[in-house]
Amino acid sequence: MNKLLVFLFLPVAIMLAQKSDFYPLGSVNAVVPTPKSVLGYEIGDRFTDYRNLERYMEKLAGSPDRVKRVIYGETYEHRPLQVLFISSAANLARLEEIRTQNLILTDPRVQKAKSSADQIVGTIPAIVWLSYGVHGNESSSPEAAIATAYQLCAGTDQRTQTILDNVVIVIDPSQNPDGRERYVRWANSTTTVPPNVRPDAYEHREPWPGGRTNHYFFDLNRDWAWQTQQETQARIKIYREWMPHVHVDFHEMGFNSTYFFFPAAPPFHQALPPEVMKWGEIYGRGNAEAFDKLRIPYFVGEVFDMFHPGYGDSWPTFNGAVGMTYEEAGGAGVAIKRLNGQILSLRDRARNHFVSGIATLETTVKHKKERLQDFSKFWQTGMDGAGRTRGYVIPPGADPGRATGFVSLLLKQGIEVHELQEAISLEVLRYYSKRNSRETFPKRSYFVSTQQPQSRLARAILEPHAAVKDTFFYDVSAWSLPIAYGLDAYTTESPLPPGAKRISEAPPVSGAVVGGPAQFAYLLPWERDGAIRVAWNLLQQGHTLHYATRRFEVLRRGFGAGTVVAFVGQNNDSLHADIQQLSLLHGVEVYAVNTGLTEKGISLGSNRVRPMKKNSIAILTDSPVFSSDFGQLWSLFEQEFKIPFTAIRSSDLKSVDLDEYGVLIIPSGGDFRSVIDSATVDKLRRWVQQGGTVVGIEEGARFLAKSKSGLTTAMLQTDKKEEEKSKEEKEREKARKELVKRQTLFEKQETQRLDDIPGTIFRAIVDTTHPIGFGVPNEIFVFKGNGTPLELSETGHTVARFSRDTTEVSGYAFPERARRTAETAYAQDFRIGRGHVVLFAEDVAFRMFWKGLNKLLMNAVLLVPEP
Ligand SMILES: [Zn+2]
Repeated sequence: MNKLLVFLFLPVAIMLAQKSDFYPLGSVNAVVPTPKSVLGYEIGDRFTDYRNLERYMEKLAGSPDRVKRVIYGETYEHRPLQVLFISSAANLARLEEIRTQNLILTDPRVQKAKSSADQIVGTIPAIVWLSYGVHGNESSSPEAAIATAYQLCAGTDQRTQTILDNVVIVIDPSQNPDGRERYVRWANSTTTVPPNVRPDAYEHREPWPGGRTNHYFFDLNRDWAWQTQQETQARIKIYREWMPHVHVDFHEMGFNSTYFFFPAAPPFHQALPPEVMKWGEIYGRGNAEAFDKLRIPYFVGEVFDMFHPGYGDSWPTFNGAVGMTYEEAGGAGVAIKRLNGQILSLRDRARNHFVSGIATLETTVKHKKERLQDFSKFWQTGMDGAGRTRGYVIPPGADPGRATGFVSLLLKQGIEVHELQEAISLEVLRYYSKRNSRETFPKRSYFVSTQQPQSRLARAILEPHAAVKDTFFYDVSAWSLPIAYGLDAYTTESPLPPGAKRISEAPPVSGAVVGGPAQFAYLLPWERDGAIRVAWNLLQQGHTLHYATRRFEVLRRGFGAGTVVAFVGQNNDSLHADIQQLSLLHGVEVYAVNTGLTEKGISLGSNRVRPMKKNSIAILTDSPVFSSDFGQLWSLFEQEFKIPFTAIRSSDLKSVDLDEYGVLIIPSGGDFRSVIDSATVDKLRRWVQQGGTVVGIEEGARFLAKSKSGLTTAMLQTDKKEEEKSKEEKEREKARKELVKRQTLFEKQETQRLDDIPGTIFRAIVDTTHPIGFGVPNEIFVFKGNGTPLELSETGHTVARFSRDTTEVSGYAFPERARRTAETAYAQDFRIGRGHVVLFAEDVAFRMFWKGLNKLLMNAVLLVPEP
């Protein structure tokens, strides 16, 4: 910390010691309960647990005519999600009218028929949505929400009155109550009296998994566009009923920082209008003025891009709002000592968020008309579309259920989707191909037009390449939704075909038993994800199942490898009813056959039709497993497929009786050596030799390599010996070393920053004759992060590998890193004794929205283990 900053901090510290004042605006209405009168302490003295936060909001809602409280959902742990609408009595009395008028602004096509945009802009107040605590352990912001709500409900001064007259304020005091509660329970149970300000004190060292994430350890600030979590789904629903003009997401960063507000840093998504930067600056100036007055240091613009649409700032921005992230120095307990010697208290932190919240409201009042005009313009210019691309075309494909899930996700975000009512031929460009072609799309294909108000968000979510100029990525660099869902997708310059029908909900996927009841067997093709659910349920109900490892034909239809066979003679009579019911429930077609003879390929009684095992599944959890990586598997098994599993603490692996389980999954994590010693590795090996299956993902897979645990012969690229490298590789390395010798510090930092694969889409080739590849296309698009590649192996079987023609297909990758990815393994299967070790070099369940890869993992769990 330099001298200037120390100098700056001193007067601030003194001032705060005297008066960390929340309510500088003047007189208050004594009828409105103060936080202290309800909670029993001043804001910042200790952490407010969720029940008390709720209780305070309930009490406020009982105070007169300025506030309305709405419960909009529930968390996985059954805590209510709530918002307060705060405004003048006059505004509250016509709240519903304000809401519906505002929504007219978001669709220019209805404006002529109803009120004109100008009329509306002149008559409704601004809507400002303040969202606190999306990261549960960034703990000051819900405290600030209490103080802000009190100020707005109780203030009788002119400034507060002006805000209320001009703005409908929506306060979400805690977007992530489960994470908040996880943090607060821990913090309140460990904080000493008086609080220990040393950063290494236990009360500042939150244990695994931390309170940042929700129940399933998901980062809700990455989930806005993908809506995999219940909290997000509920929030987007109420958000879209209101479509605010400003949205602020309150966070915390490291406790040695200052305060951050917008404008954001590049890259900006190219679909966003230029006004985004202008408004970042307007609000930045408003906040700066308030912070200057209180002499609180801050910074703007260096971090936080406006590129990935999944954040609480970018998603609202793609929905016409000024969406912003504010960050307070924090991530600390009740009080902590900073590098500069200053004590940062919870009260200071909450106060700063209070100050920025009020400043944001006052800036809105000042620029209200212009803000609403730009909001209205956003939707009008949205109608202009996206250059030459007039639409995205997605045929329902081999798994219409997945396509339906995809469509439903678009509809939930206000993106209009049309369904073709007849087969149509269109000039198109297939995603990641190089040449246009004319394709015929079947009836019921989906068409998303770029001539719609919501075209910007549609583009950001659907386009094959996220349009970006710079290369700073705060998060992943590619996410094209049809690709993540494993769907075939096309762009077209043709407009929406006439006769296509706009749909308001995703069409249900029909399931059926074709030709039943069967005399001999039922055949369940493996292409649809629903087949996994049906098969698991049948196993669960005690039925005996097999699966074909080769293709065959019967009923004049081809059945791919992976097709599940349920023999009537091996099951009791309930099979018929169970299959009937499950096929309807999960939208799959099951075929009844009356003979074991096929028309082509293997017979149903072939040795190549193997028994399917109902395995007990264990998943490692707790440190060193990354909580998010365990969490997404937890959510995948429990929510998506409803397959039970046992979570085992990593450090318990050495003592657990593995014979209770058939499959053990090791998610990505840190240093597995710290909990899995060589005796435990030997134990794992013996268990695999007896028939167990270990599935390692990312770092969990790399731990199973030869140079790490030695459980398999898999080789990491970095383990390549000098003599194993090609001449070209050696030359590239030499050139790199020469370059480094003369680089400036700045150049070195830039190289380090760019030498990265931040989350990028690559092409992979799948061996569809191996069980892990059953039901999967032979070319897929996979998500790759920064991990060390796994070399192809002659002793293990490579089931999927990154393609030879290298390079990423979408997103950013340092060219040299992309080259090194070519022809390395994506998925490998090592056979050891009677068992298997399966390695996935990359994440196959990324944040649960990369649904196209789920089957690879489920195959490893359901089909690979041998009976
Ligand atoms: Zn945060």
